[in-house]
Amino acid sequence: MDFAYTAEDEAFRDELTGWLDEHLPAFLTEWSEEEGGAPGSGGIMSQMERRRAWQRLLNTGRWAAITWPAEWGGRDATVTQNVIYSEVMARYRTPGIYNANGLWQIGPMIIRWGTDEQKDRWIPNILNAEDHWCQGFSEPQAGSDLANLRTLAVADGDDYVLDGQKIWISSAHIAKWGLFLVRTDPDAIGEKRKHDGITALIIDLEADGIDVRPIRDIAGEEMFCEVFFDGARVPQAYRLGGEGEGWMVAMGTLGSERVGTAGLAIGMRADLDSMVNLARSVNPAALDDPDMRARIADAHIRIEYTKLLNYRALSKILRNEKNWPEVPLAKLQWSYLAQTLAELAVDLLGPSALPQRGQPGAVDNGSWNRLYVFQRYTSIGAGTTEVQKNIIADRALQMGRR
Ligand SMILES: Cc1cc2nc3c(=O)[nH]c(=O)nc-3n(C[C@H](O)[C@H](O)[C@H](O)COP(=O)(O)OP(=O)(O)OC[C@H]3O[C@@H](n4cnc5c(N)ncnc54)[C@H](O)[C@@H]3O)c2cc1C
Repeated sequence: MDFAYTAEDEAFRDELTGWLDEHLPAFLTEWSEEEGGAPGSGGIMSQMERRRAWQRLLNTGRWAAITWPAEWGGRDATVTQNVIYSEVMARYRTPGIYNANGLWQIGPMIIRWGTDEQKDRWIPNILNAEDHWCQGFSEPQAGSDLANLRTLAVADGDDYVLDGQKIWISSAHIAKWGLFLVRTDPDAIGEKRKHDGITALIIDLEADGIDVRPIRDIAGEEMFCEVFFDGARVPQAYRLGGEGEGWMVAMGTLGSERVGTAGLAIGMRADLDSMVNLARSVNPAALDDPDMRARIADAHIRIEYTKLLNYRALSKILRNEKNWPEVPLAKLQWSYLAQTLAELAVDLLGPSALPQRGQPGAVDNGSWNRLYVFQRYTSIGAGTTEVQKNIIADRALQMGRR
């Protein structure tokens, strides 16, 4: 790490912390985290109205989408300011926002690729949490190998007619809109140019011919969905970018997924501290166990390492250098640590960590149990562990393919 915060960066930090000091306590009093609920319930889907209220409050201070241009309600924040934002929000343990897909990925893409009419139509509602948005990329045969996607869109008059299936689409069942990737050139796969002929479409999920079916996940929640298209008509006016330019549009959105992860190490440090504090009251003997103490120390060191890795990536970005291999390393480190911490929590807290939300004796509303099962996703989402290792071998170690 070799960067210093400028006076503008420090002023940005002060303005943000001042705003949070003024608004967050009252919000938390008004919107306490829901108590009770059915066993296995909880998580993101049970908190949507609270999240909507928080995003709207953030937006009143222009703190919802800081990297967006000022003319669209953002602050034109720099990469460094975005890191500061992410760290401060993690330190204050702020509530989640209503629509990360919309704010972090789809909104920036509409601003980048959309026509004036498209921007006017969709951007204000994303910012103000009016409509929920999902990102519809994955298919049963197109996950890591996303360019293999086959949901077909055939031009017909002013519309495209869609047939095919998407899967694992987060929150599609509560989304009004989605940014989907579809195939407009079906010959491209056979001709070994599968990245061509993919088009990005904005889709109204309430339209005829679209069937959204929630999938029950490992935590017992319905968080993601299958989406089936059976002759669904989508206006060509809803196309984002040109026909066949969907891969370019999508790479922009996936790149944005990395934005805002700098605060993860701070959030994890807070999780580690709170599980150790909780163990003092519910399972104190565990804290005398040498093996457990070594695991706590190891987690602490790895969290610090993750923070420094993020700073090194930022230093490289500021020097206009490629931040290899920090980006795939940080993803690997994040998923490893998230799962390690969740396992540590259950072992540290003992039987108290096991009851689910709503069951007798559940500490912290069953959140440690939920964390334990749900964190499995971190080695799959945003690029699987194996794919990250391939990237490191290929681009950082330059080992060559066999
Ligand atoms: C919680 C969650 C939310 C999600 N939300 C969304 C969403 O909103 N929208 C969306 O479009 N998708 C979403 N996804 C899907 C996610 O993007 C895919 O699961 C991911 O891309 C992996 O694809 P896959 O599941 O098809 O697995 P596959 O790609 O089939 O991989 C299966 C296994 O094979 C391994 N593998 C694959 N290719 C290689 C290779 N070349 N070398 C070595 N090993 C390999 C993988 O690492 C993995 O272990 C979500 C997934 C999860 C878990």
